[in-house]
Amino acid sequence: MKCQHEGCQIEVNYLICEVKTKEYSGYRCLNHVLIDLEVLVHNLKEMKPIDEKCECCDTVGVFKINYGGDGEIRLCLEDMIALLELRLEPQKFKALYEKYPNQHILHDDFYCEVTGEALQPRKII
Ligand SMILES: [Zn+2]
Ligand SMILES: [Zn+2]
Repeated sequence: MKCQHEGCQIEVNYLICEVKTKEYSGYRCLNHVLIDLEVLVHNLKEMKPIDEKCECCDTVGVFKINYGGDGEIRLCLEDMIALLELRLEPQKFKALYEKYPNQHILHDDFYCEVTGEALQPRKII
């Protein structure tokens, strides 16, 4: 699978960012994950969510993301933005980390595994 950033030919086989909604699916290489996340977060607000339940709360209507690991994390808009900005609440982080220990975006550089505290929150938009 090639990176889908316009003009990029990099083969994406290790660290990928893949986001799915009803209208959008995008693979990105490491170089373009961050650049395109800004665009993505802007666009998410206009995109149609999928009719499934958020894994962090009871909201119906989710976006799916695979950020370089196994499985797809299904989150509502609010929790998805918190995930992308590396600032999930400790309980939500722990619940997701238990299910998705291989997802790069839940890496222990970003959160304390013991307390669930966010260590490197970032602002995307
Ligand atoms: Zn790329
Ligand atoms: Zn949620």
